[in-house]
Amino acid sequence: MNARKILVTSALPYANGSIHLGHLVEYIQTDIWVRFLKMQGHTVHYVCADDTHGTPVMLRAEKEGITPEALIARVQVEHLNDFTGFNIHFDNYYSTHSDETKHYSEAIYNRLKASGLIAARSIEQLYDPLKNMFLPDRFVKGECPKCGAKDQYGDSCEVCGAAYAPTDLKQPYSAVSGAVPIKKSSEHFFFSLSDTRCVDFLRRWTSEDDHLQAEAANKMKEWLGEADENKLSDWDISRDAPYFGFEIPDAPGKYFYVWLDAPIGYMGSFKNFCEKNSLDFDSYWNKDSTTELYHFIGKDILYFHALFWPAMLEHAGYRTPTKIFAHGFLTVNGEKMSKSRGTFITADSYLQQKLNPEWLRYYYAAKLNGSMEDIDLNLEDFVARVNSDLVGKYVNIASRCAGFISKRFAGKLVDGEDFVQLQQMIDDSFKSWRPEKIAAAYQQRDFAAAVRYVMKHADEANEMIHTKAPWQIAKDPSRDKELQLVCSLGIQLFYLLSSYLKPILPETVKQIESFLNCEPLKWPTLSAEQPVSSLLLPAGHTIKPYQHLMTRIDNKKIQALTAANKQTLTAKPQPSIKEPIADTISIDDFSKIDLRVAKIVNAEQVDGADKLLKLTLDIGSEQRTVFAGIKSAYDPEQLKGRMTIMVANLAPRKMKFGLSEGMVLAAGGGGGLYLFSPDDGAQAGMRVK
Ligand SMILES: [Zn+2]
Repeated sequence: MNARKILVTSALPYANGSIHLGHLVEYIQTDIWVRFLKMQGHTVHYVCADDTHGTPVMLRAEKEGITPEALIARVQVEHLNDFTGFNIHFDNYYSTHSDETKHYSEAIYNRLKASGLIAARSIEQLYDPLKNMFLPDRFVKGECPKCGAKDQYGDSCEVCGAAYAPTDLKQPYSAVSGAVPIKKSSEHFFFSLSDTRCVDFLRRWTSEDDHLQAEAANKMKEWLGEADENKLSDWDISRDAPYFGFEIPDAPGKYFYVWLDAPIGYMGSFKNFCEKNSLDFDSYWNKDSTTELYHFIGKDILYFHALFWPAMLEHAGYRTPTKIFAHGFLTVNGEKMSKSRGTFITADSYLQQKLNPEWLRYYYAAKLNGSMEDIDLNLEDFVARVNSDLVGKYVNIASRCAGFISKRFAGKLVDGEDFVQLQQMIDDSFKSWRPEKIAAAYQQRDFAAAVRYVMKHADEANEMIHTKAPWQIAKDPSRDKELQLVCSLGIQLFYLLSSYLKPILPETVKQIESFLNCEPLKWPTLSAEQPVSSLLLPAGHTIKPYQHLMTRIDNKKIQALTAANKQTLTAKPQPSIKEPIADTISIDDFSKIDLRVAKIVNAEQVDGADKLLKLTLDIGSEQRTVFAGIKSAYDPEQLKGRMTIMVANLAPRKMKFGLSEGMVLAAGGGGGLYLFSPDDGAQAGMRVK
C-alpha cells in the first residue's frame, strides 16, 4: 500500500464555553478516522486549535476582570483536558491567537486584495452609545418584528423562528449595557464572493471530484442557483474596535472578523506543528500539493467551509480541501440537549462521574454512518448497548478463554500441529473475518457498518465457544490438548477483533496489547491469496494473565450524570466570590461619585421588563426615577418605605422604558443581589463619604 500524506482538521471550538457531548460527536469521529489511517501506515497529521477572537470573548474577559489572553489560555487548557479525557489525540492543538495564524490571515488578505477581491463599503449597524461599541447581532435584544415576542436576539426569534437583521427589532436594547442602541455607519471590508471568478470556480469545485457528500453538493446547487443566477453575497470580513483579534494591516481600528482568522487557524496550527517537527508546510498548502486535506465540520458551518473557504484559498494561491465531511447534530433521548432536563452534558461532567470515555466512543461509532443525519444518544440504549456489545460479547471472549490458558498452559497458545489445526479451523469457519470490508467502512466513515461487522463476528466467536464449552472440556484432564486448542482459538479471534476495534477503543486495546503480550496492533492487511489465518498471533505465543478489561455501565451513574447537569431556575447558586479587586483609584476619583441616602417612596413592576423595577427615590432636595435590575431579588411591595444608597450624579440614561436618573447600590456577583441600607437614623439626602 502506498503511504499517503494527509492533513486532517476538526472545527475549532470557541474559547467561550465548555466542551459538551454534542461537540464530541465531531472530535470522536475525526479521531477514529485518523487512528484508522495511522494504523494503516499513512502519514497523518490531525490538528486543531481554539477559536479565540471576537466580541463574546472580549466581553466575558471584561466581566471576569481578566485579560482576553488570560481567559483564552485558561479555556484552552480546559478544552484540551476534555479532549484528552476522551482519548482524542491531536498531533497539534493550538490557538488562533498566534503569530502563525496572524501571518496567514494577513497573507490571504493581501493576496485577495491584490486580486481585486476585497471591497470596502460603508454599512449601518447598531451601536451602543454607553459602551462605545458596535453590537454583534447576539448582543442586541428587543421585540420580534414578526410576532412581537419580547427579549429576542438580533438575528432570529426563538418564539416564531423568524430571521431578520438586528436593525429590524422593535424596542431594541443593548444586551451589554441596556442602553438603546443607535444606528451608526462605518466602513467594512468584504470578500467579493459574488465576483464571477469566485462563482465560476465554486460551481466547478462543488460539483467535481467528490469534494462534498452528495447531500452537501445538492445544498450547494441550491445556494449557487442556476447557471444564469448569482445568489452569493459578499462576506463581511471586518469589525471595528473595540475588538479582540488581529488588526487589519492597512486599516487601523479595523479587525479581521472570524472568517478571516478562525479557519486560518487550521494553517496556523499546522505551521506551528511543522516548525516543531521540521516538516515542510508549503508542500501541504501550495497549489500543486499532492497531499490530502480533510475538514470535519458540523452541518451548520457548511456554507462557510464549502463556499467561502475554498474560494478564499483558491484566489489567495493556496490548495483547496480534498474533501469536506459534514455531520449532523446530537440529540439526547430524541430531543435537543436541554439544561433543564440535564441532557446538556459537559465532557468534564461525564469524566467526573468516572464513566469510561470509550463507552461513548463506541456508542457514537455505532451510530455514525458518514452522512449529515443527526445522531441520537438515547441514554437507556447507551447503557444496554455498551453492556451487551462491549462487555457481554467482545470482552467476554477473552474472559472465557484466558483463564484456562494461564492456569493450565502457563499462558501458552497452541504450537506445532495444533497450531496448523487452529489455522484450518479459522479458514474453514471464520473465513469471512477478512479486514477489507471493515477497512472500507472505516475509510468511508461508515463506522456504524464497521461496528456491525465486528459485532457479527463477536457473535460467531461466542457461538463457537458456547458450542465447544471449554468449561466442560476442562473437567476431563485427558482432554487437555482440546482445551488448549479451543481456548487458543478464542484468544486468536479476540486478537483479530481487537485490531478491528482499535480505532474506536484505543485505550482498551492498549491494555489488551499488554495482556496479549504483543506489539501495538496495526491494521491487518491481506493480499487476495492470503487467508485470514495468516493474521494470527504466532504459534506457541505466550499471553499474560487476564486482567479485567471493562466494567458494565451502572445505570445509577447515568442518573447521577443527568442530575449533575441539571440546572433549575430555583437552584441557589453557590457563592464563590473571586472577583479580583479593580485598579487603584485616588481619593479624588472617589470623591467625584456623589452617593446619597435615598428613601424608596415607590417601587413598581415595569411592563415587558424581566429584570427591572421602577423606583422613585427621595433624596431630600428632589425625587428621582431609577430603573434598577433587582426584580429577581425583590418584591416591589417590600421595598416601599425603606432607605438605600444611590449614585446621585450619574449621567441620566435613556432606557427602553424611560429615563433612569441614577443608580442604587447593590452587592452581587456571587449569586443573589443585596441592596444596601444605612443604619437607623440616616436621613434621605445625606451624603455618603
Ligand atoms: Zn417572533
